[in-house]
Amino acid sequence: MQLTDDISVLNGIGGKTSALFHKVGVFSLWDLLMYVPRGYDRFPELILIPDVSLEEDNAILLTLCSDPKTVRAGRLNILTVDAADRKGNRIKLKWFNSLFLKKMLKKGLTKVFLGRVKIGREGKELLQPRFFNRDEYEEMTGVLQPVYPLTKGLTGKTVSKAVHQVLDKTGIPDFLTEEERDELGLPELNEAIRTVHFPASGEEARLSVKRIAFNEFLLFMLKIRELKNNNEKAGNSFRMIESAAAKRLRESLPFSLTPSQEKGLKDIISDLSSEKTMNRLLQGDVGSGKTIVAFLAMVTAAENGYQAALMAPTEVLAAQHMEKLKGLLNKAGLPYKAVLLTGSLRASEKSQAREEIASGEAKLIIGTHALIQESVEFKNLALAVTDEQHRFGVKQREKLSGNKAIPHTLVMSATPIPRTLAIILYGDLDISVMDGMPALRKPIKNCVVGPEYREKGWSFISKEVKNGRQAYVICPLVEESEALNCENVADYAGKLKAFLGEEIRVGSLHGRMNSRDKNDIMDAFKRREIDVLVSTTVVEVGVDVPNATVMMIENAERFGLSALHQIRGRIGRGENQGYCIFMDTSGKEEENRRLKILNGSNDGFKIADEDLKLRGAGDLFGIRQSGEMGFKIADIYGDADMLKAAAGFMGHINETTIGKIEEYERLESRIVL
Ligand code: ADP
Ligand code: MG
Repeated sequence: MQLTDDISVLNGIGGKTSALFHKVGVFSLWDLLMYVPRGYDRFPELILIPDVSLEEDNAILLTLCSDPKTVRAGRLNILTVDAADRKGNRIKLKWFNSLFLKKMLKKGLTKVFLGRVKIGREGKELLQPRFFNRDEYEEMTGVLQPVYPLTKGLTGKTVSKAVHQVLDKTGIPDFLTEEERDELGLPELNEAIRTVHFPASGEEARLSVKRIAFNEFLLFMLKIRELKNNNEKAGNSFRMIESAAAKRLRESLPFSLTPSQEKGLKDIISDLSSEKTMNRLLQGDVGSGKTIVAFLAMVTAAENGYQAALMAPTEVLAAQHMEKLKGLLNKAGLPYKAVLLTGSLRASEKSQAREEIASGEAKLIIGTHALIQESVEFKNLALAVTDEQHRFGVKQREKLSGNKAIPHTLVMSATPIPRTLAIILYGDLDISVMDGMPALRKPIKNCVVGPEYREKGWSFISKEVKNGRQAYVICPLVEESEALNCENVADYAGKLKAFLGEEIRVGSLHGRMNSRDKNDIMDAFKRREIDVLVSTTVVEVGVDVPNATVMMIENAERFGLSALHQIRGRIGRGENQGYCIFMDTSGKEEENRRLKILNGSNDGFKIADEDLKLRGAGDLFGIRQSGEMGFKIADIYGDADMLKAAAGFMGHINETTIGKIEEYERLESRIVL
């Protein structure tokens, strides 16, 4: 068995289960090992009703005293049933919009019910409880159970079983020696992978995550170093001069550039005309206006007779950029041909795009990973821009340039990582920081509220929509999860529809939809055929719909401050006042205080610093912001210590170690769309 093998080589994983794994991004056995739990459940011991805590989940063995009743409250369907513990204490169980449970919950049924308790009008209520057979439950109490970010049909058990099979059969050579591990205080690689899935203690899990984060940071920095070394060797194969076309484009803009944009552009143009190949990171908060800076650089390349490509992380963003770019070229009367290449184009459209790129007719190219994967040949690619994406290694860039001369690279990032960390992580890149915002933008009005405010929030959305505006609601999950008690897009969209009524059009969007469907939904939202978009976070960082004014974030306590700030950046882009509602369902004072930092500031860098200060090693499994940076597991804030450790290790790394790391990197290199 090889770690690059498809997961279908495992026992008990047929086509159907395979497909479910693919849905969550697990293709190879290695992917499976890196499918790290998003946390661990320690199932609480059984208690009696008088001992419940209002702060945490409670597990109570209950017998139902009646058949369930359904009531409609407003547009919600509420299912209730009375239950008693073994001492005869009473509690009411309550589910919202979950009528399918009715068949299962019959009078006399005895099960362990697990959930939050609230004091309602008629006494204690257990809200949306999950339920288990007693022996099944007791087997789980006390030990740490991995909680995977599952999809419907895929159970934690299936994942655990599969992981066990792989762990039993493979050994991965560790590139750190025992001595080095001791020095770093990190576990052996195989050990780390095993214990991240099945830890004996929280501390063990914490160390395993640290180890994997260390690997990710190290690989990332090595790639950047390789990139820089290659570029320095190569010199500048695409020397450019300042362009009149770019000037014309600038003059046709409806606004003038901010000083930070001016500065960023100047840095870039000076790189392009220097002796070396550019390697620059353009870092700027959400909404600081990076795109136009990139376009101006791309037009400069075009006028110098070269091609320039911009690679976006999603099809939606690629399409949005293309639309903008075409509009700008038109308005400025510039003749350069711009083409879009994404995975979901029809075969004929793709082949036409490929031809135009190969012949050099297309000067400006915007696309997704498809640019790398669809065997695109460029005539003379001189500038490669990547948007919100940190994961383009040397190999991909070599692929982009088709082993011709190495193009200039511009990486744009909206993750306002604290300067200190950026310098470590991107140590070998040049950095332009855009710290100003376009003027005229009204600061967003924020509030942090509890679930009792939810309906008010919905009413507010309704009011804004009736005034012609649009809104986003963000949920942490795509669909209901058996393990996590938080909102999911599928159910939430239903509840919201029921509340808002027929006239308001609610749409939903999440990362597991196929690209074409995602595009269609986003387009409909842009054209205002959808008023309220219920969505997960991952998909659309950078989406620009200026008419959207409300952002409501459910279970805000599950996100890092920086992530929340990014999400919020999708509103307040137009002339209307923007509002952001952070829904804190934790019920914890300290959590509320953390979220309120967002009330005080709309400055991403400031928030990133606060985030870093607040998140020591302690809350490793509270909130992780890994996906955001393109890392699978590492979190730039939570694992800042590992970032520093990896940077220190880079300082005295030798050839043997690099050789071993390459072995490891082979496992990591698969790109999953
Ligand atoms: P980001 O840096 O998050 O990628 P964008 O490039 O999407 O930000 O810009 C956000 C919005 O601000 C866009 O609608 C863009 O047209 C507008 N914008 C960019 N620069 C300026 C400026 N100097 N003045 C006013 N609006 C600007
Ligand atoms: Mg952007």
